[in-house]
Amino acid sequence: MIKAIRGTRDLLPPETALWNFVESAVRDVFRVYNFHEIRTPIFEDTQLFARSVGEETDIVSKEMYTWEDGVRAADYAVYKKWMKMKMPDARVFDLIDPEIAQPQSPAPSARMKIDGKQNVILFRYRFTFQDFLLLKLMEEQSRDETGGKFQLRLVTTEAVPENFKIVLEEREVIIETVTVENRPQSLTLRPENTAGVVRAYIEHQLWERGLNKLYYIGPQFRRERPQKGRYRQFYQIGAEIIGPATAGSESPARDAELLELLATLLDRLCITDWALQLNSIGCPNDRAKYNEALREALAPVVGQMDADCQRRAVTNPLRVFDCKVPEDQPIIEKLPRISQFLDEPCRKHFEQVQEILKSVGVEFQLNDRLVRGLDYYTRTAFEFTHGALGAQNAILGGGRYDGLSESLGGPSAPGIGFAIGEDRLVMALKESAETVQRKPDVYIAPLGPGMNREAARLARELRRDDVITELGDESFRLKKSLETASKIGARFALIVGENEVKSGAFALKNLGSGEQVSVPHAELVQKIKSSR
Ligand code: AMP
Repeated sequence: MIKAIRGTRDLLPPETALWNFVESAVRDVFRVYNFHEIRTPIFEDTQLFARSVGEETDIVSKEMYTWEDGVRAADYAVYKKWMKMKMPDARVFDLIDPEIAQPQSPAPSARMKIDGKQNVILFRYRFTFQDFLLLKLMEEQSRDETGGKFQLRLVTTEAVPENFKIVLEEREVIIETVTVENRPQSLTLRPENTAGVVRAYIEHQLWERGLNKLYYIGPQFRRERPQKGRYRQFYQIGAEIIGPATAGSESPARDAELLELLATLLDRLCITDWALQLNSIGCPNDRAKYNEALREALAPVVGQMDADCQRRAVTNPLRVFDCKVPEDQPIIEKLPRISQFLDEPCRKHFEQVQEILKSVGVEFQLNDRLVRGLDYYTRTAFEFTHGALGAQNAILGGGRYDGLSESLGGPSAPGIGFAIGEDRLVMALKESAETVQRKPDVYIAPLGPGMNREAARLARELRRDDVITELGDESFRLKKSLETASKIGARFALIVGENEVKSGAFALKNLGSGEQVSVPHAELVQKIKSSR
């Protein structure tokens, strides 16, 4: 039996109702803060993550789903399959004088020499299933041709590599490309979404609009050790405020606005047991000095630490604060803290964030051990933890990333964002799936031959009036219909028999109280809705 991959899971009803409940509440909150949705692809160029999240982070160094996307490998398989049925002899041909096709050109050609004769070959890369059918068609045509002549009509939308070679072996053509011009691209399933949003910001020149307030909801992928609250495909709800500094993107008011939004969002979902941990991890200058101090402080003690912490101490000393090994904690406690290294503007910025938070009544705890697992953060960094979540208690995290756009080749565009772990958010809800899932209002029970038609008409009417309607079948006895109606939790059963249709009034049974009344057709919707 084929099962879902470890670390992934199926979200089934009724739990999906809880997810929809969360997403709809979240969208409402984003709307009043004037955020707009962005949807970026779930895979991107691997370099995007290496350059933004950082080569030395756990995410990039060991958790990404990365593959070489070689279109040609797939083409090769299709070619081979077809040619096997077609080619008579073993011969080798080299392409001569290929007219290198322009990308997008519909039917460029390359000529091939076969036994002194010239034959037309048209190439096509990137086969789709339709292309394969097309090839089969061409095969039928070429069967009619005589005298060893054949025509391969393979239409290309891409340049034909110069040293493209076709080898005919017994009943088989193998297509070789000696050097591949379009080297396969390294692609990665997104492990987080900020990099994709900033890439899109640059690609579509979103700075033209000034300040951008964008949000996303979607799956992310990390090859982590699965456990409760930690999955390999998990979902994030995130938001970014990004734009030119002249549009105010650098202001501490934006940091505070985003944090206040988060408090509102959690309140709206009635999630109370949260704590906001706040830190400033400094501006680039402070960071350089701080890293230096950290390295110095770590040098005499690093040998006593666990292997993973030792690696961090060398590659990315800030990340030593994320080491979870209990024996290393006393060493970590004594390390210098970034708070002692903030320069004046950086410290001021952080103070202003705190002042606004106090004035709007959002509680926070300063935590100068808080560093984030991604390299692009600067200045404000934060995490919300939640009491009921157990070991994986971070419900969301985020921070400022003022230099990220430039490091991806874009203009200066200070920004700040967060990502909520939606899986964990749903776990922290007090509501149960049963309470948020709407049960059917009515179950229509057609009774006897010909009644499916009548029932379908009625169902159509009710559904158009927003009545949640489930339909039975005329072959069911009344008892079975009523049992089914109760099982799915419908509030009413509506009986549609020949007499009801004739009289234009239907038996409506309240499945809670057992009471049954006859309701004229025209009053059905109102009667069903009024008792919701
Ligand atoms: P990060 O940017 O890595 O701090 O991720 C932000 C939030 O996403 C975290 O606070 C978690 O709630 C959630 N998250 C991160 N990784 C996972 C995972 N593997 N499974 C479930 N949720 C995750």
